[in-house]
Amino acid sequence: MQRQNVPPINQSNKIRVLDIIRSTDFVSRAELAKKANLSAPTITRIVDSLINSEKVVEEVGIGSSEGGRPPKLVRFSGSDKYVIGIDLGTTHIDGIVANLEAEVRTEMRIPTFVEAGYDEVISRTSLLVRDLVDRSGIPSDQILGIGMAVAGLVDLKRQVVEYSPDFGWRDADIINDLRRNVPFPVVFDNVTRVMSLGELHFGLGQQIDSFVCINVGYGIGAAVIADGKPFFGAHGMSGEFGHIVADPYSDARCLCGNTGCLEAVASGRGISMAAQKRLAAGEKSVLADAFRADPSSITARTVAHAAADGDDCAVDVIKTAGRYLGLGIVNLVNLFDPHAIVIGGGVAQAESLLFSTIRTVVEERSLSRHSREIEIHPATFGAKASVMGAVSLVLDQVLSLQLKAVPTR
Ligand SMILES: [Zn+2]
Repeated sequence: MQRQNVPPINQSNKIRVLDIIRSTDFVSRAELAKKANLSAPTITRIVDSLINSEKVVEEVGIGSSEGGRPPKLVRFSGSDKYVIGIDLGTTHIDGIVANLEAEVRTEMRIPTFVEAGYDEVISRTSLLVRDLVDRSGIPSDQILGIGMAVAGLVDLKRQVVEYSPDFGWRDADIINDLRRNVPFPVVFDNVTRVMSLGELHFGLGQQIDSFVCINVGYGIGAAVIADGKPFFGAHGMSGEFGHIVADPYSDARCLCGNTGCLEAVASGRGISMAAQKRLAAGEKSVLADAFRADPSSITARTVAHAAADGDDCAVDVIKTAGRYLGLGIVNLVNLFDPHAIVIGGGVAQAESLLFSTIRTVVEERSLSRHSREIEIHPATFGAKASVMGAVSLVLDQVLSLQLKAVPTR
């Protein structure tokens, strides 16, 4: 019980202490005081709170001492605290249960059925959460919360999906609508920023602290990690890389209503539309014969397969998209000077023609030796990048101590 005359714990000190504990295997309170430059009583109060209140730190025996009483050691205890990660995609909803060390316990995937409407998607997501918890066998009081990745413009101040062209949603109050059906706190963010948090906490972020994640899927997004922190922008809406103007003279229409957006000419949807347009104009391609009955069912994946088989038309469609993406990335590199670019999202897979075209354009167009030699990596967690990111979204909240452990039902 906190006494009246004891000042409240400073949150930023608490986060700093927890960060130090997380970055080491074991540490004593005396070492913590030295590293965090805080007094011994302050460290004791912070550590006691992290052990008893947030329950993310535990005592692990006795260290060696140079005379005097041997110190008790503490460590981060993330292996028996769990998080549910959800990637709410337009075709599938992916879910995992993982502990705070990112070890996955259970994973499931169900179709989204976007066309059935918002309420149905929310109810399917709630069912998925319940199934994940049942299958994992983990008691509810060990689950800290749900992290969600959603495609669309997220207004972090109002905590709503302001606009999602992919889903056709406006002002969707996902958190409250889910909370009616599930007993856990819910945090969410735009899918690309969520991916970037996964890289930051569990992937590339272990080695470098400034990078840009680019998500090339049905749409396109980007997220900037600068000095170990995500960049949000004034309204939490930064990173709409898909809607920068790639070609003002293009008539390719974007889902946002404009023409010539990067997403309209280089996303999975953009690639399939470009291929369909060329076939409609009578261009020769193996795709013309294979999809004569229904050209609208051509996807970025089918175009990529045809390109890998040497089909000239498909090769040209992919290379054109890769050039647009490469130019957009050169602009990002010149603006932000990151250590590396991470590309995920399924359309630009490593070793693909799209990926190699991007790399070539970035090398050709770069200003400095640094930007010419910039590392371009595929996402560390591949297809699982967004769900791993959703796990770190909750971890981020826990580390910022905004979420308390959920009481037992
Ligand atoms: Zn657009």
